[in-house]
Amino acid sequence: MSTNPTNHPATDEQREIIDSIERWAERELRPVARRFDHADEYPAEIVAQMQDLGLFGATIAPEYGGLGLDATTYAQIVMKISAVWMAPVGIFNSHLIMAACVQRHGTAEQKTRWLPKFATGEIRGGIGLTEPNAGTDLQSIRAVARRDGDSYVIDGTKTWITNGVEGTAFAVLVKTDPEAQPRHRGMSLFLCEKGPGFAAAKKLKKLGYKAIDSAELVFDNHRVSADRLIGGVEGRGFQQAVGGLELGRINVAARGAGIAEGALRAAVRYAQERQTFGKPIAQHQAIQLKLADMATRVEAARLLIAQAAAKYDTGERCDLEAGMAKLFASEAGVENSLEAMRIFGGYSYSTDFDVERYYRDAPLMCIGEGTNEMQRIIIARQLIERNPL
Ligand SMILES: Cc1cc2nc3c(=O)[nH]c(=O)nc-3n(C[C@H](O)[C@H](O)[C@H](O)COP(=O)(O)OP(=O)(O)OC[C@H]3O[C@@H](n4cnc5c(N)ncnc54)[C@H](O)[C@@H]3O)c2cc1C
Repeated sequence: MSTNPTNHPATDEQREIIDSIERWAERELRPVARRFDHADEYPAEIVAQMQDLGLFGATIAPEYGGLGLDATTYAQIVMKISAVWMAPVGIFNSHLIMAACVQRHGTAEQKTRWLPKFATGEIRGGIGLTEPNAGTDLQSIRAVARRDGDSYVIDGTKTWITNGVEGTAFAVLVKTDPEAQPRHRGMSLFLCEKGPGFAAAKKLKKLGYKAIDSAELVFDNHRVSADRLIGGVEGRGFQQAVGGLELGRINVAARGAGIAEGALRAAVRYAQERQTFGKPIAQHQAIQLKLADMATRVEAARLLIAQAAAKYDTGERCDLEAGMAKLFASEAGVENSLEAMRIFGGYSYSTDFDVERYYRDAPLMCIGEGTNEMQRIIIARQLIERNPL
């Protein structure tokens, strides 16, 4: 059960972290977001600040130099940043998914070797699952790792990989036994660093989520020592990769809720400034109805996220809750950003306002960490499993 249903973190220390991140986002992100987004330029100065704030170690355990934040606190940080500009969250979040694979599944040696460098952001990267022919159906990936003495040789192509250009290390899902049945038993996760035989082939052009790099990664006879196999045992990669998705879904939900809140805030302000027919448009009932629905979506999303995060923090299985939070909050981001566009009228099309960015960024949240079609399937399966006849 949720122990923290109002989404307020339990301790003063957690509150202080969230408040300081919110102040930082308003102070440092707000003034530069439009410039970096429109130029599609990697925000190196923001990345350096995020490093100083400890965000690259946000969910890494303190024993490895991280902040060790729980899901409840982390989700709120993500929401605060996304309400201003969502893309920078991807820079540390994809990195933290890679770190979580090592922290949850790595050998003791892998943890002590990698996690301290991940926590400081000295080594940054992401997670390489998707391939040109396989996203939702991950078990049909074609990348392979062939054992060769004390090492493995990796071949294949990954696409849409966040931090693919700027990052140097990636947790990469491959087949170690392409003939295995069921297929997931032949899948393994490797920690790969760029070098001979492993490079970013191209930066992908996108509708939104700009300034952060999404790239195709190519492995061509890339040799890694066997100690790069996460957990040291073949055949566990699929479970290791999808095992992190509950937290990933809470995170995407928080990004959607953040966009929904950012769009709401912009709309509430604009509706009081813009006058038509002798009064602010906020006084027209048609606009009030939109604002009411937008605000209700934000609060509902917040509560679903709080419930999922609180359950995750107790260590209980929460795929139903995380799925509901992800589904609802990401759709709330899309709906609120579209409603903000309508409220802004013609100015919504202007690149001088933030709402066009919310509108371009929001749909990604319906795709990432399992599409919303798949969320509905997961929710329905869990409903049936939890309520047998
Ligand atoms: C900007 C961006 C960043 C990304 N970052 C990363 C990253 O860092 N690492 C990474 O590994 N991947 C990343 N991805 C990839 C993302 O995870 C995939 O795009 C996503 O998993 C969907 O896969 P797909 O695009 O192949 O769609 P497909 O799997 O081809 O799905 C197409 C459509 O079919 C639906 N569908 C598929 N199967 C079913 C089914 N069984 N039942 C019902 N409907 C179904 C889907 O819901 C969707 O609507 C990123 C993508 C984008 C756009």
